[in-house]
Amino acid sequence: ALKDHAQAGQSLAVLEHGKAETVELSYSDLRSNVQAISASIRALLSKKSDALPRHVAFFVHPSAAYVVTELSIWAADGVCVPLSVHSPVPELEYFVKDSESCLCLSDASGAPKMKEVAGKLSRPFAEIAKATESSKAYRLLVDGGPVSPAEQPGCFSCFCGLFSSRSDVLSQNALILYTSGTTGQPKGVVHTFNSLTAQMRSLSEAWKWSSKDRTLHVLPLHHIHGVQNILNTALFNGAAVELTAFDAAFCLKRLASGDITCFHAVPTVYVKFTQYLDSLPADARQAICSGLRNDSMRYMVSGSAALPVPTMKSWAEISGHVLLERYGMTEIGMALSNRVAGTRYPGCVGWPLPGVEVKQDQEGGILVKGAAVFKEYYKRQEATAKEFTEDGFFRTGDNAARGGSVEECQAMQDDAREVEASTGRPRADTTTAPEPALAAIYRILGRTSVDIIKSGGYKISGLEIESVLLQHDKIRECAVVGKPDETWGEKVTAVCVLQSGAALTIKELREWGKERMASYKVPQELEIVTELPRNQMGKLEKKKILQRYGAK
Ligand code: ATP
Ligand code: MG
Repeated sequence: ALKDHAQAGQSLAVLEHGKAETVELSYSDLRSNVQAISASIRALLSKKSDALPRHVAFFVHPSAAYVVTELSIWAADGVCVPLSVHSPVPELEYFVKDSESCLCLSDASGAPKMKEVAGKLSRPFAEIAKATESSKAYRLLVDGGPVSPAEQPGCFSCFCGLFSSRSDVLSQNALILYTSGTTGQPKGVVHTFNSLTAQMRSLSEAWKWSSKDRTLHVLPLHHIHGVQNILNTALFNGAAVELTAFDAAFCLKRLASGDITCFHAVPTVYVKFTQYLDSLPADARQAICSGLRNDSMRYMVSGSAALPVPTMKSWAEISGHVLLERYGMTEIGMALSNRVAGTRYPGCVGWPLPGVEVKQDQEGGILVKGAAVFKEYYKRQEATAKEFTEDGFFRTGDNAARGGSVEECQAMQDDAREVEASTGRPRADTTTAPEPALAAIYRILGRTSVDIIKSGGYKISGLEIESVLLQHDKIRECAVVGKPDETWGEKVTAVCVLQSGAALTIKELREWGKERMASYKVPQELEIVTELPRNQMGKLEKKKILQRYGAK
């Protein structure tokens, strides 16, 4: 793949489906932009105070400008700190301050917020903009005027050069990503070029990336999924990335076009696709559904949050694709994955990815070790040390079950075959490589802190119950949590959004539930809400629900 990349030159690197215009950058366009912008960033960094490290915070929407900014910071020997473009000023201030960024960058639409943050923290601010409207060249502006460039870095050739030929930088810090803040204050996760490279190599091998790939990118770019698994891995392979804001109609059109070879998203995206398709007249829906069955699309990934089995099943019927579920986190990159070629198991996240060592502690907690694992939580030495075992494994805070009895494995097989059959077509990519043992496949039970419910002496996975409840005709969305209770310790509580016009009582739900799960798992309480708290990645914010109950 690396060789292909060196020859990439004129091939497409980035295509931005912007609101006003479409921007296309080839690998050589990208290179010349990075040379120019990195020289300007170098100039700005040369004036920084010695007290701060070369960390550059940037607030740039998913776009060609984002890609140029990221690579230019690296080419200027800086550390990238990409910020969420949905964060309000106080959050941005927290990220800039916590990461000790010495320079704030933004695109034009982010400028008002980022200027304010930079002003408050007395950091220099610069804006990345197109040189002229119609050109493919970008420039960096300070107070409306261009920054005069410092001497060219020289050693920088292209993205791959940065990762492969400059062995001197590999051990240096490259990226600080903030965790989603699902379980507490977001923590700055420090990755080196080494850990990023290990992640990209692992995914490239497992998911068979090549320079022929073209992916559609709809996720935020301040999060491991969007920045590493999709954007950087695509560039690492000399592949093309189409960046667009999420819009179900537009994305489905692109996915059905036959141009796209792989797609990576979160469960909510597939739910939204399904809802959109359901809202269409039969013939329009049919046209998209048959388009999605094109031969180019190698795989569609779901990750970042649990993929409910009903969502996976309905997407298989609709699109002809059995979603490939994987498990990972900011700190470790991707650790477990179903296989691209081979059966994908509903409700399972597969086996360890290449180069990743996975084991479990006595409680079923997942522990991970490998070159892809992060270096540290920035300026949180104690917190970092606490999360590593003596033998160097990182404690993920997630629980899993592994394999199952002979009968359970048989049931998994049957279930997987049924989903495959429901696509109405043969599996696209087959393999003769033997399948890893089903007895070793992982199933995520959830976070120890919010998903594992301790009720009446049992340890129950909220995720598992959610997957069952979503099969109920009247339930549209649900979160299952443990509500503090004197008698039970915690009571299994279902917080549900119902289908429009539907009504449901706890009695009805319990009767239905008893047919489908062990009695101690059946929700004891039901709360009906109009909306569930979710973050930008579509992750359920159970902590918010639990706080209402005065818990945890
Ligand atoms: P914080 O660490 O700040 O609380 P966060 O853990 O949500 O936030 P991320 O690193 O973005 O931040 O998310 C990683 C978490 O996402 C994992 O620890 C896991 O709980 C969840 N996750 C990722 N993939 C899956 C999956 N396939 N199934 C279930 N959960 C998943
Ligand atoms: Mg986390």
